[in-house]
Amino acid sequence: MAIRNDQGIVLRGYPFGESHRIVVLVSPNHGKLRTVARGVRKTKSRFGGRLEPFTHVDVVLYEGKNLDTITQVSTINAFGELRNHLDRILAASTMVEVVDAVVQEEEPSMRMFLLLQRGLTVLDHQEPHPDLLTSFLLKAADIIGVAPSFDSCASCGRSDRLRRFSFAAGGSLCESCRTQGAYVLRDGLVSYLASVAAADFTTLPDSDPGMSSDALGVTRRFMEYHLERQLKSLAMVDG
Ligand SMILES: [Zn+2]
Repeated sequence: MAIRNDQGIVLRGYPFGESHRIVVLVSPNHGKLRTVARGVRKTKSRFGGRLEPFTHVDVVLYEGKNLDTITQVSTINAFGELRNHLDRILAASTMVEVVDAVVQEEEPSMRMFLLLQRGLTVLDHQEPHPDLLTSFLLKAADIIGVAPSFDSCASCGRSDRLRRFSFAAGGSLCESCRTQGAYVLRDGLVSYLASVAAADFTTLPDSDPGMSSDALGVTRRFMEYHLERQLKSLAMVDG
């Protein structure tokens, strides 16, 4: 058994035994870490408060057979401001849920970790842009290698008459290539999604409220199709 240092962002936690807590983190170099914080549910725990979801922490781990035990925690960033706003908490919950679904244990996940860190940083500093979650989902799709194409037909490559969207084909389709089950997208939505996909979190173009909700709807279902699971926290954002 050995002691090692690591860092990560807390994705979630749940009770374990009478007084312990399982804490799941995403680490840049070791993927998902499933750890146990012993005794934290007793009063006056040394570090229970630092292990809330979204917190970026440095940890000292005592390696166990199944679970590593957290012996020390220090906060790198608590993202304290985002916790004061329900809409930001919901957005952060969706980000965390996506990362939790994508990242595996013992698998480096630097890009996913950095994406989450950037997402939380933006939520900590400003009101969420209406297209922030769409942007996050598209960047996550890119990292796992399923980025949908919005500027050319996923089947023939042409760049005009893109009105359909197919989860299975991996993006927009022209009218000639449309397949059964390919959704019709409203006029302008494909180019709207393309501009969101091309932007960074802090350089998102001015949003169009009607387009934003459709863009998130399509992107969410696309992600759910690839993850083969529903994004529960996004169902709350969506209403
Ligand atoms: Zn085509």
